Amino acid sequence: MKITSNLILLISLLFFQIQGKGQHAECGTDYIHNNRMENDSSYRKQIYSIESQVEAITQNHANNKLTSAVYTIPVVVHVIHLGEAIGSGSNISDIQIKQAIAGLNTRFRNSNGLGVDIELEFCLANKDPNGNSTNGINRVNGSSVTNYSASGIKPTGNTCGGAVETAIKDLSRWPVSNYYNIWVVSKICNGGFVGFASYPVGGLYDGLVIVSTSMTSNSGTLPHEVGHGFFLYHTFNGDGGNVSCPADTNCLINGDHVCDTPPHKQGDCGTTNPCSSTGVWDNSRYNYMAYCPLVNRFTQGQKDRIRATFLVAPRASLLSSIGCGAVGINERSSSNLFSIFPNPAQSLINVKADIKLLGSSYVVYDNTGKTILKGIITSEDTIIELGSLSGGIYLFSVGENLKQSFKVIKE
Ligand SMILES: [Zn+2]
Repeated sequence: MKITSNLILLISLLFFQIQGKGQHAECGTDYIHNNRMENDSSYRKQIYSIESQVEAITQNHANNKLTSAVYTIPVVVHVIHLGEAIGSGSNISDIQIKQAIAGLNTRFRNSNGLGVDIELEFCLANKDPNGNSTNGINRVNGSSVTNYSASGIKPTGNTCGGAVETAIKDLSRWPVSNYYNIWVVSKICNGGFVGFASYPVGGLYDGLVIVSTSMTSNSGTLPHEVGHGFFLYHTFNGDGGNVSCPADTNCLINGDHVCDTPPHKQGDCGTTNPCSSTGVWDNSRYNYMAYCPLVNRFTQGQKDRIRATFLVAPRASLLSSIGCGAVGINERSSSNLFSIFPNPAQSLINVKADIKLLGSSYVVYDNTGKTILKGIITSEDTIIELGSLSGGIYLFSVGENLKQSFKVIKE
């Protein structure tokens, strides 16, 4: 059974398109965000706070050594179906979900080579919040929730038809500190939207909602909404709803707050950008965060912003989640030349190094990229004292050019 499903997965991976179908105007994220920015002062404060932290980190990108590690984020998928058998209607199959996550990973890892590798991957959780085995997929019949069968889910603050967002999410949700939650639903606003995501503010309901028909391997909606979840705005942010060119005086605070995606209007996807003649126009018009018909890339500026978001609450805690077992925290060094234990650690770590690494230097960076400790690997078993460090995530790099890296968690 496993061999069969893996084979189907492999075959489908070989054939699906790397670029996604365009997003068009069916993303509900900003509708909800703008509403909350206007009416919810604590939300507004949170957004401003995380924005200023992310800006400070991206401005110091040159010092941010953490950009060299691949982050693996545990995902839980809640399928809120209408009572159909597994594999039909809104109750999409395990295979379809696995293909969707695989497709998401090809886009974040830049498999088509057209953009930038975000060095971010998503894994279906294999450990639930109680530490039990799971396939990372929860199925719940949502048809008894008022209005769900007729119109799907209604995002909070929206006046469209549909079931109350929190009532649907309360059917199944896992702690956002350890899992990125994805709810697959039958419809959003009776067909008005194909997806919406929370910007990274945490809380019980943080995550992404996507209609079942868009949870597919070639979906442009999934990377787009995940992009919002990790604090990317639309490339046309600030266009007033396709009305005017976004401000363009300081790219870190205007438009999408990203400097290598030229500002534009939502509807402008042609060969030239009427809003700006500078920068690489293809970075915006082919961007997963645009509404243009063909999307196929993220940029370095977006990567910096996403990775800065992982250095502050609430997304930072995802990096120490054990939701995907060892994968989440014990990244193997690419050549398996060394290992570290225990991890998480308390007062010291043992570094078991291959003989080839003897005499190599090592460096421990904190989460802002600052060097905290350094030394030389002098034996195959080296003990490093962590006693004076505060709790958190550190990056341990060793060897020539410090290319072998490991995340270390200090409790
Ligand atoms: Zn969007």
